[in-house]
Amino acid sequence: MSDSPLLPVKDALNRILANFSPLSTEPADLFQAAGRVLAEDILAEFDLPPFDNSSMDGFALHAADRPAQPGSEPVTVKVIGDIPAGVRPILTLHPGQAARIMTGAPLPGGADCVAPVEDTDFPYRESRELPDSVRIMRFPSTGANIRPRGQDTAAGEVLLRAGQLLHPSAVALLASLGHADVFVQRQPRVAILSTGDELIKPGTPLQPGQIYESNSLLISGLTAQAGAIPLQLGIAVDQPEIIREKLDQAVDAGADLILTSAGVSVGVYDYVRQVIEANGRLDLWRVNMRPGKPLAYGRYHNTPVIGLPGNPVSAFVGFMVFVVPVIQRLLGLPDRPRNLRRARLGHLVVSDGRESYLRAEVQAGPDGLTARITSHQGSGNLLSIVRSNALLIIPSGVKSLPAGTEVDIWLSADTIMEG
Ligand code: AMP
Ligand code: MG
Repeated sequence: MSDSPLLPVKDALNRILANFSPLSTEPADLFQAAGRVLAEDILAEFDLPPFDNSSMDGFALHAADRPAQPGSEPVTVKVIGDIPAGVRPILTLHPGQAARIMTGAPLPGGADCVAPVEDTDFPYRESRELPDSVRIMRFPSTGANIRPRGQDTAAGEVLLRAGQLLHPSAVALLASLGHADVFVQRQPRVAILSTGDELIKPGTPLQPGQIYESNSLLISGLTAQAGAIPLQLGIAVDQPEIIREKLDQAVDAGADLILTSAGVSVGVYDYVRQVIEANGRLDLWRVNMRPGKPLAYGRYHNTPVIGLPGNPVSAFVGFMVFVVPVIQRLLGLPDRPRNLRRARLGHLVVSDGRESYLRAEVQAGPDGLTARITSHQGSGNLLSIVRSNALLIIPSGVKSLPAGTEVDIWLSADTIMEG
């Protein structure tokens, strides 16, 4: 496979995605449901609000007492009761009668509006003896300050659709419909393995020639952000036997996807590819992109593996381009287009002809967006990602773009951009 030509990014993505379909569904407690993908359509089983209620603290009034001549208030009415929120609706008003009522309390029969306390001569909110009567300084119009049953949703309406990501507001809506749990897509379990003799865990002293292992932090965080569950396999030294042991652990743990980093290039000690080939199959290797060329896809026994490059920036770009769409597919989310915008280059940019994903800072100005690359673009330089808010995409075949050229930028999910 080492002689095969570099695959275009789009082809590689399509070939990888063809291996994935949504995982099973499972019930989730509502408190665990935000951020999950809904796996059932949700119909309103009853009206919301479920009963007519007051939207103000005030007095419920009868239509018969509304002055014929507007402005001829005050109107004096007899107070026949008190209706706090949560009570069973039993009162009925007759002409000349009012009831004190609190926000969210069921409207008494016969009421056609609520006058807020501040529009009466009894403007007290703290507990007090109910007055025998109250003077209404401004009599509200029909329906004023009443939230009628069904105002938000009517029984039978489809409120949520399978495949949508549950925002906390959607979870709250499910709660107001009485659901205690809901069917969601199972989250992919993603096993993460770092490989390399030079890597040690942060927190231990660094020996000459060693570096701290950082990819597992990057990849776990991105995995969780994408909605999957990261499983840490730790670090494997560059020995086929050790790499195999770690990959076996992933299989035993029931991983839906294995992500390795490093060891997929052409170095003498790059064993990851070999181990995959010897214990499964390698479907694809090397993509026409920069950074991230030595990306591999295959199966270890029956578990899909994406071999990300070792350089942190390459691993990041490989994750964004290939792993995010795979996780979305496993989660049953529709294929989402990248968050692309157009920006002008703030300076000359050169590339080597591969499809390039440069880390850029994009700023909005009076003439639209301007993109500038961040710090040194070497594929080992994490700071270039940390300081970026977008990936600047240079199409394959393009080697140089002068300042002012319009380019595609792929905004990171947490970037808000005007203009
Ligand atoms: P390799 O693909 O093994 O040739 O690794 C490419 C580069 O990435 C080397 O400079 C490695 O030291 C570095 N690298 C590999 N894995 C990690 C990791 N987990 N954390 C930080 N750097 C890494
Ligand atoms: Mg290595």
